Amino acid sequence: MAKICLCLTAKTLKRNLEILDKYRKYADVTELRVDCLEPDERLLIRRFPEQAGMPVILTIRRDIDGGQFVGGEGVRINLMARGLAFAETDRRRNFAYLDIEDNLDVPSLEEAAQTFGTRIIRSYHNAQGTDANLAAKIRSMRHSGDEIVKLAVRANSTRDVLNLLKAGKECADQEKILISMGHYGMYSRILAEQFGSMMSYCGAFAETDAPPAAPGQLDVQELSKQFRFRNITKTTKVYGITGNPLKATSSPLFFNTIFDLEGTNAVYVPFPADSIVDFMEIANHLSLEGVSVTIPYKESVIPFLNSMTDEVQSIGACNTLILTPQGWRGANTDARGFSGSLLAFLARENFKRQRVTIIGAGGAARAVVYELHRLGAKVLILNRTAGKAGRLAAPYKFASGGLDERETARIEKYHDIIIQTTSAGMEGTGDSVDPLSFYNFSGREEVMDLIYNPKMTPLLKRASSAGCNVLNGYDMLIRQAQHQYVYFTGKEFPDHLLSRVRYGEI
Ligand code: NAP
Repeated sequence: MAKICLCLTAKTLKRNLEILDKYRKYADVTELRVDCLEPDERLLIRRFPEQAGMPVILTIRRDIDGGQFVGGEGVRINLMARGLAFAETDRRRNFAYLDIEDNLDVPSLEEAAQTFGTRIIRSYHNAQGTDANLAAKIRSMRHSGDEIVKLAVRANSTRDVLNLLKAGKECADQEKILISMGHYGMYSRILAEQFGSMMSYCGAFAETDAPPAAPGQLDVQELSKQFRFRNITKTTKVYGITGNPLKATSSPLFFNTIFDLEGTNAVYVPFPADSIVDFMEIANHLSLEGVSVTIPYKESVIPFLNSMTDEVQSIGACNTLILTPQGWRGANTDARGFSGSLLAFLARENFKRQRVTIIGAGGAARAVVYELHRLGAKVLILNRTAGKAGRLAAPYKFASGGLDERETARIEKYHDIIIQTTSAGMEGTGDSVDPLSFYNFSGREEVMDLIYNPKMTPLLKRASSAGCNVLNGYDMLIRQAQHQYVYFTGKEFPDHLLSRVRYGEI
């Protein structure tokens, strides 16, 4: 089973030991990053393994490889030798591993390490990108039979992650550590077992003086508690969410909490992806069982489906993939999540005699329009790109138009409920605008914004100040996730656990 390695990046040995003591229950191995220590402290590393009380990797990372060591190679090699010196017969008092870069050839160090049972991690780093022919690289790097090959390469795209995953599979017979660094590759750190990597490196980021040792590194508590890293084996069912940029998503916390409370052997992982084509290949390689799909792939994922629910067919947007014996089946849980949330908020059973304005005509709007039609509302759809609103409205015979002040009079005829479905106002988009700024609320409108982060968008704040009842998209999110849970697991959602996953805060 893959191990968790806690990287220690504080400036003193004493502080590193304090951090290790606080988090040792989450780690199997620790890496002493000697390059992060103050120069005087680097001379005192020899006793660290004994003090640490767990297997320690000795690493002195050069600045060219993403580390902090800027001295000459002679000094660095001397420090490594100092770490291995006066080896003890009780191996727990020696460094368990020595990290030596692929292009550093010092036979005396290798000999010393081998004599006293310190295993060599033969490492290669590329902080800029992912090399071609990774499988060949893995096979050629090992200098002697007992070495562990480590490849830490930056993923600039989903294709880069895919290439590392494929290389890991090709070299399944080799003991190795594989890391896809950066945002796109962060799930390689959670699914180390599936990537064929024997270790995942993480940090203790609650400690302000323990900075990440590499881009995309996860916090040790997040990896252990939220993702239950130590429970992930080859038989663990893997689910996840894909989208781009996928920076803030509360779905992993929702699903992993439920899986944990129910004792299900499953994990739910974020898969940021710059290409739906490449992500689908990754999904097949990792044998994913189910996927939540978010911006911007709800429509572009449809060609990959082998079958779909009637809702996906009618809505033209899919936010849920379920692996079946016949391939990927697409479902849409946004629709029921939306109507369940808004009907509960309004204490209604349907939308008959309600005149509704919808802002936006993207994937989420499609689900909203479908449900409003199914439940009897009269609808006006307004979108920045008016033609798109027209195309969405036509099959339902709903009214449509552009998103500007010329539509004010028509909004006043469709203002029982106003539903904001665009991404304008969402955290992380840099687009903190109110897409309905030209409209003055009377105070009698019921206003829903599908965005849940932030809790109050500029539009909701303005509507609330005018006296309107307002609802954000958090309840919808939870409800659609409950429907996804049923699709993913084939089981009823455990309602008694709902209070454990409704956080109120995102
Ligand atoms: P999408 O398919 O990419 O559609 C985006 C829509 O937003 C389009 O209508 C687009 O107009 C419009 N838009 C973007 N920026 C705008 C701006 N600055 N001013 C005016 N209009 C703008 O995205 P989506 O999947 O529909 O998602 C939209 C939002 O709904 C996201 O914030 C998402 O988080 C939220 N959502 C929430 C839930 C939930 O469970 N609460 C579920 C699904 C979605 P153009 O056509 O003119 O480009």
